[in-house]
Amino acid sequence: MKTIGLIGGMSWESSVEYYRIINEAVRERLGGFHSAKSILYSVDFAEIEILQKRGKWEEATRLMVEAAQQVERGGADFILICTNTMHKMAEEVQKQIRIPLLHIADATRERIREQGLSKIGLLETKFTMEEDFYKGRLVKMYDLEVLVPDGEDREVVHRVIYDELVLDVIDPSSKEKYIMIVENLVRRGAQGVVLGCTEIGLLLRQEDVPVPVFDTTIIHAKAAVDRALAD
Ligand code: GLU
Repeated sequence: MKTIGLIGGMSWESSVEYYRIINEAVRERLGGFHSAKSILYSVDFAEIEILQKRGKWEEATRLMVEAAQQVERGGADFILICTNTMHKMAEEVQKQIRIPLLHIADATRERIREQGLSKIGLLETKFTMEEDFYKGRLVKMYDLEVLVPDGEDREVVHRVIYDELVLDVIDPSSKEKYIMIVENLVRRGAQGVVLGCTEIGLLLRQEDVPVPVFDTTIIHAKAAVDRALAD
């Protein structure tokens, strides 16, 4: 079994999910007392959040690179950044380490492609919805149209992530808002919806919406297990 490297803490609420899903999947596949070999570097999210808010992405990149190098030195065979937003600097991180980085959008694209969808809705932080580093990667080598929420809906998605989900607040009224936002995307033609923020799965589940849900936390964590257990 290979050792999975994880950069987490963004937020720790979602890192807990990664850890649980990865270990459950290894036990499911190997049985008995098996669990995943992993190395987790968990950041102080306050340091990251302030840099995001101030647009200090170079500084944030430096922190991600340092975290990745520590995980590599610790003996990981490959690495995951356990947040969609911080894939903004994924290419730079990959350049500064020798082990491969398992990109969250690549893993997600594969699952969408398997279902043969051509138009997908995307719920993420504003940083991710409004830039191309993620959407671009999702449509790479695959003819996929990506829809993001408009105006006020986009604000709501972002606000709920930073004011609630990363602070471990799960509010049923926010869930209702998210369901309406998904319905708006479906009206615009979305055949599925990507939960492109690693905490959204804590709020919204497959049974809440009428189209297939692609939960990036589950997809990314399971892709890590596939790689860890591959020959
Ligand atoms: N976990 C979130 C994501 O997947 C947001 C927190 C962050 O800014 O990293 O984008």
